Amino acid sequence: MQIYWTKINKIIDETPEVKTFLLDRPEDFTWEEGSHTHFALEGFNAGDKPNRSLIRHMSICTLPHENAIGITTRIREQCSEFKTILRSLEVGSKVAIFKTHTNVPLKRENKNIYLLSSGVGLATFRPLVLDYFERADNVEKIHSLNIDSSQDFLFSNIFESVPDKKFISQFVDNRKDYYEKVKNLATDKSGIFYIVGSDEFLTQNMEILREQGIEPEQIMLDKRKDVRDEFISSVYIAK
Ligand SMILES: Cc1cc2nc3c(=O)[nH]c(=O)nc-3n(C[C@H](O)[C@H](O)[C@H](O)COP(=O)(O)OP(=O)(O)OC[C@H]3O[C@@H](n4cnc5c(N)ncnc54)[C@H](O)[C@@H]3O)c2cc1C
Repeated sequence: MQIYWTKINKIIDETPEVKTFLLDRPEDFTWEEGSHTHFALEGFNAGDKPNRSLIRHMSICTLPHENAIGITTRIREQCSEFKTILRSLEVGSKVAIFKTHTNVPLKRENKNIYLLSSGVGLATFRPLVLDYFERADNVEKIHSLNIDSSQDFLFSNIFESVPDKKFISQFVDNRKDYYEKVKNLATDKSGIFYIVGSDEFLTQNMEILREQGIEPEQIMLDKRKDVRDEFISSVYIAK
């Protein structure tokens, strides 16, 4: 396993609680849209075993041609040791990334794509949307729906509807509106539905999709195939 040590190049305050850390991109480091990585802080591998409290899974919210590895995360006042340290880091601080992989690449199957996310889950979808803007081949349209009760919606410069490019972006701040909209989106019986958020969020979305007749094969989750299949079964077999 290759560990890439790199440095923080820029810190963007996206909202009062959400920051994006742009990391220098090591020359030989590349990734696909929808990738997540293991993001680790100095000292994580100092002992015999990796110190898990200094490692978190994080999506990469940029594309390689942006020449930066973007990590977006919410840091609340009450937060973990990991985030307490992360908050104190500055431009030039060393961090590590390793084991980078995508479970949610942009599917180019001539279908409509629905991106359902909660809060910073939108970060996973930013590179998919950029990839689509650059090359729309074999994608009918993309519709993003994000729920964030803070009302500080993320990446609003990219997540803005562009009818000419067949891109729709919606933000809502409450569950009632959110799930009503999901129900409407699920009237498209051949769409592909990507979902990113907490496990509870995934389950609630899948329950609605299932009720509307969406099949497991139409659902994309940011989980390893075996974990994804088991997780989806827990909703679909329980029906
Ligand atoms: C494939 C994958 C991709 C992911 N991508 C991202 C991503 O792009 N961005 C991202 O942010 N996360 C992402 N995650 C989730 C991420 O790995 C972390 O689990 C998540 O950010 C929570 O971080 P944390 O454990 O450091 O807790 P925190 O975010 O610090 O805390 C979680 C909750 O617990 C509360 N809490 C924590 N400590 C205390 C305390 N001492 N006292 C009181 N309350 C406390 C916090 O207020 C918060 O509500 C991803 C996960 C996976 C599996």
